[in-house]
Amino acid sequence: MFPLLASLALASPEFRAPTTELEGLARRGWSSATACSGREAPSAGTVPIELGPLPQGFAGRAELVDGELVAVRIASAEVEPLELFHELAHAWAGDGPVPLVEGRVGVLADCMARREQARTWQDDGRSLRFMTGLTRWSGGSPHELADSYAAAYRWFGAMTDEVGLTELVPQDAWTSWRSFRQDFEGRSARVDELLSWLDLSRAEQVRKLDRLVSATVADAR
Ligand SMILES: [Zn+2]
Repeated sequence: MFPLLASLALASPEFRAPTTELEGLARRGWSSATACSGREAPSAGTVPIELGPLPQGFAGRAELVDGELVAVRIASAEVEPLELFHELAHAWAGDGPVPLVEGRVGVLADCMARREQARTWQDDGRSLRFMTGLTRWSGGSPHELADSYAAAYRWFGAMTDEVGLTELVPQDAWTSWRSFRQDFEGRSARVDELLSWLDLSRAEQVRKLDRLVSATVADAR
């Protein structure tokens, strides 16, 4: 009836979790994410947070339907706030190539953790020699996955230094690297340099990433 007001209809979901602590943490995380991103994210009216083991030792998983967060599953009630925040942050990143989604989720989850005075991701500065690519992930060994996530966080941390977090989690998420690149090309010499890494071979990407330090992600070196 009021199409121009459609975006105002977005509201924080009700969280249903096995413990009130978890529900409270999810509520605070969600409100921090709206502050970090400058907007609400699409979700079902009620979002259940379920406990249970996940494949490959993952700490959590977000379930999105048509870009809307409908459920979160986490491996344990004693999960670190950052892990729960990561899953909630998926509501702001939408669908798209996995590294494009996970990297942006990583920097948003870090912002949520900082606001909630929880532990952020710590970049230990190690060589990311097992990462499988900046634009496309392949393989799935624990080392490959850990370094691929770390590569996405480092790269998007450097992008956040340049363009700011709110620009990286817009209302309409990118469904391809092509549209992402079109939006940022020519923004600055540094942005163009970071974008040019996406075309390099895996080995060259590792060499660049191993020297990359971002002001956005915590440096534990
Ligand atoms: Zn994720």
